[in-house]
Amino acid sequence: MIVLAVNAGSSSVKLQVIDTAEDRLIGKVMVECRGITHDEAIARGLDELNSPAIQGVGHRVVHGGDRFSGSVLITGEVIRAVEDLCYLAPLHNPVNLAGIRACLHLLPDVPQVAVFDTAFHATVPPAAYTYALPRDIAAKWKIRRYGFHGTSHRYLTERFAALQGRPPSDFNLITIHLGNGCSACAVEKGHAVDSTMGMTPLEGLVMGTRPGDLDPAIVYRLLEWERLDIAALDHLLNHKSGLLGLSGLSNDMRELLRLESEGSEPARLAIDVFCHRIRRYIGAFYAILNGADAIVISGGIGENQAAIRSRVCRDLQALGISLDESANAQCRGREADLSAPAARTRVWVIPTNEELLIARDTAALIASRNGHLDGQAV
Ligand code: ADP
Repeated sequence: MIVLAVNAGSSSVKLQVIDTAEDRLIGKVMVECRGITHDEAIARGLDELNSPAIQGVGHRVVHGGDRFSGSVLITGEVIRAVEDLCYLAPLHNPVNLAGIRACLHLLPDVPQVAVFDTAFHATVPPAAYTYALPRDIAAKWKIRRYGFHGTSHRYLTERFAALQGRPPSDFNLITIHLGNGCSACAVEKGHAVDSTMGMTPLEGLVMGTRPGDLDPAIVYRLLEWERLDIAALDHLLNHKSGLLGLSGLSNDMRELLRLESEGSEPARLAIDVFCHRIRRYIGAFYAILNGADAIVISGGIGENQAAIRSRVCRDLQALGISLDESANAQCRGREADLSAPAARTRVWVIPTNEELLIARDTAALIASRNGHLDGQAV
């Protein structure tokens, strides 16, 4: 099936056309949305792609709340449910909806599917997803940990197992996605059991411009001390913190490593804090899983930065982790086992491919719907 995978963000729309019969990428394009609507951006992207007839559209949707534990065909009811979840993901769900509406308008006869960043985390148990807050307030606002980057963590889980020629249920994994957003996931026998991200994608690891874990008192004290309003605080935590805020220099890991090598102290501290946080969660998830078969690293930083992988995995022999430094140094943007031969816990790099999973889910749901309709017709 020829599927269009849509990742609609606030500043750009990324489109890929994938032939799911052979997992083949036919074309991809990114269109900036500054000054134009999502309708216009997607129309322009489709024009540029000049692809064969599209038979299904799959949309990345960031927040599925506790409503969606898997991908679904988009109906009016699904759209209303995603709208209802906008209060939990005000930066993401509204633009994802704009992408859905644009495609319903541009490709009205093509079935569409929503693939949620939260869905893979639906198996996380209450002990891991519940915040220790008063239960009536938590229930009223559905305050809990949801986890994000689920499509990436699911891809890494399925791909790791496929590379071993065994089912995902054979492995306990710690999957680590290090891009602009960063998260780690504890995966027990193929199912997520804990994640570093919380009610929103702010919690957990240090990211390009987000701080990850913070003492919550810092947040309300800042309102008072800096006389910030909520919008300014939101901006500070989503766009001014993380590697960028820590270093005062850049949110780009390539740039920070370069500056560190020239002696920049703020760059060194930013990278140290980044790596320390990842190591803390490797230890935490190792305990939650009672041991892991492998750590699977991905995302722009994880796939390309041997120096970061080396710093993260240093001195973890107690957890059975030991890198083959020359395999690590040679690995850039490709699948590889980086572990020393005797290491009990393997360390792999697997480039993520969220669009491929979006396309596969889309094709599978449409095929089963068509089968169902055919069945009714007979
Ligand atoms: P996103 O999360 O937006 O998809 P990426 O996964 O591309 O972003 O991650 C962005 C980060 O990855 C940046 O810090 C950047 O320095 C790093 N990165 C991306 N590509 C490369 C590369 N080819 N070599 C080194 N670092 C890279």
